[in-house]
Amino acid sequence: MTIHGLELFDNALDSLAEALSKFEEGDEGDYKSYKFAVLHMAHFIELIFEYHIASKHPLLIYKDPFAKKLDKNKTITLWEAVNFINNEAPDTVSSDFHSDLEWLKRLRNDIEHYKFTMDVPQVRRTIGRLFRSVLEFLSNYTELEVDAHIPSHTMKTFMVLSDEYEFTLRDAIREADKVESENYPDYSTDTDADPVRLDCPECNHPTLVFNDDSKTGFRCTFCGNEESEDLPSTCDICGTHTTQGELDYWEDEMGQLEGRCYYCSGKYHADKDD
Ligand SMILES: [Zn+2]
Ligand SMILES: [Zn+2]
Repeated sequence: MTIHGLELFDNALDSLAEALSKFEEGDEGDYKSYKFAVLHMAHFIELIFEYHIASKHPLLIYKDPFAKKLDKNKTITLWEAVNFINNEAPDTVSSDFHSDLEWLKRLRNDIEHYKFTMDVPQVRRTIGRLFRSVLEFLSNYTELEVDAHIPSHTMKTFMVLSDEYEFTLRDAIREADKVESENYPDYSTDTDADPVRLDCPECNHPTLVFNDDSKTGFRCTFCGNEESEDLPSTCDICGTHTTQGELDYWEDEMGQLEGRCYYCSGKYHADKDD
């Protein structure tokens, strides 16, 4: 391996470490930091592709390796690197991966020209997806083990970004946190107020939250489930606040379902008489 190659790899890892810590700052609420996460992530991807090509032959990262006098200021672009990789083995950089890369390039360009408008959820999702595509590429086509070189303080973010399940779950919890804080009931004025967040019985995450579009009034931000025995409900007879699981359902004379609490269903009296 040439010295140049090693430098590329070290610089790539530095950019990745920066991208991860900026992403983490963004997650902690400093949204400006996502901007730098984008810039560093773009740089990481560029360098890691260049490194991959330099490992084939160190001269291949120059624009014209066959020139009489090699111009070391002119290196290949990201798209040339992508073409090389795909010429080597078709579809190594899939069309989805390719369009995410284009998105990243566009966004980086906008940031550099101060035309930046941030769609935070989209930025987070796309960076996560890109990062996983790069890791997949590295593990399928190279010997590089990036995770062995991740600084320990960014390891948690690395794990979250590289694992789609963890990543989606973290997003769902963030979304549920937001819904909860925006709709949190004022228990000081209404001690009977219904909860706005429950544990989801389908996926077992604390992500079943108040939702206007849901028929039950609740929807899980992780799995989309809308049902739970613990959904708030009121007794149709006495109006007491309880949960759906606590009610007994009866058909009234009109054929409508009616929910009755422990007392109104007659169960209380039946149990007392036992
Ligand atoms: Zn769920
Ligand atoms: Zn009742």
